[in-house]
Amino acid sequence: TIAYKDGAWQQGEVKPYGPLTLAPSASVLHYGQAIFEGFKAFMQPDGSIGTFRPEANAERFNRSAARLAMPALPVELFMKAADALISIDKGWVPKNVGESLYLRPFMIATDAFLGVRPSKEYLFVLIASPAGAYFPQGVKPVTVWISEDYVRAAPGGTGEAKCAGNYAASLLAQAQAQDEGCDQVVWLDAVHRSYIEEMGGMNLFFVYNENGKPVIVTPELTGTLLPGITRRSLLQVAKDLGYESREVKLTTQQWRDDIASGRMTEVFACGTAAVITPVGQVKAKGFNFTINNGENGPVTMALREALLGLQHGTAPDTHGWMHKVC
Ligand code: PMP
Repeated sequence: TIAYKDGAWQQGEVKPYGPLTLAPSASVLHYGQAIFEGFKAFMQPDGSIGTFRPEANAERFNRSAARLAMPALPVELFMKAADALISIDKGWVPKNVGESLYLRPFMIATDAFLGVRPSKEYLFVLIASPAGAYFPQGVKPVTVWISEDYVRAAPGGTGEAKCAGNYAASLLAQAQAQDEGCDQVVWLDAVHRSYIEEMGGMNLFFVYNENGKPVIVTPELTGTLLPGITRRSLLQVAKDLGYESREVKLTTQQWRDDIASGRMTEVFACGTAAVITPVGQVKAKGFNFTINNGENGPVTMALREALLGLQHGTAPDTHGWMHKVC
């Protein structure tokens, strides 16, 4: 933990996992100044431990902080905290492919003050937990539910920030998706209620077949969806694999049409937790359709293998994305 008071970050402390002490009037409990990040540490073949693009998480953390009127945490401090926590015991970073140590940094407003204004005191906390393989039984496509009743983020809102409130607002839609037999929600834009934005905790990608060549397409960053680090990495990995990629605006109608015509061959979601998840079926109130016969697609799986190879150190780190911890 690192406390922020009197306009400065204080000396950090490493403590055993346990409850935090907060005043009942702590600002975060009432006005929701809470942001977080998620990234992973992977055991490398030489026995060292590497984190995947932690600077990108530190930078996004500070963009979230700025939107929530919270102080920035110097990137070096974010990195130092993560390295120190992971290095306590190398043994808690799992060794198998697909497994990792998940890191969860967060910052909350701790001012004991009832009143709508930015807090003056904050607490930065970093916790970690070993994470098993996301698909222990092998990769299997998920089913998604297009949310037409609720929106996640509106222009000018906090959609681009990784703040707790965005997730609070999404829980009811996630529950609805589950009631409809789906794994995750697909969010649409708030203005037209037709452009595809992202999923509950992942960004979306679409694979087109253009004259026999795969083209990778993802919704452009409009300010209302989370700029995923996996998304950004995959746009580069796609290029490395010789796939063309594009950032576009795509409506649900176009999605249906492109699947029906066979131009769109695969769909997948990506994020830190699952890396890449194929999407096999899409449901909404008035329609539902299947993608690639509900099976894992070849382009999806090639991208997945390439990214996992980089993270687990079995492929060369040509972009300098791995940070050596210890
Ligand atoms: N969108 C949302 C809403 C998310 O919560 C996440 C997970 N952080 C993502 C996208 C994917 O982002 P990343 O690749 O940085 O994990």
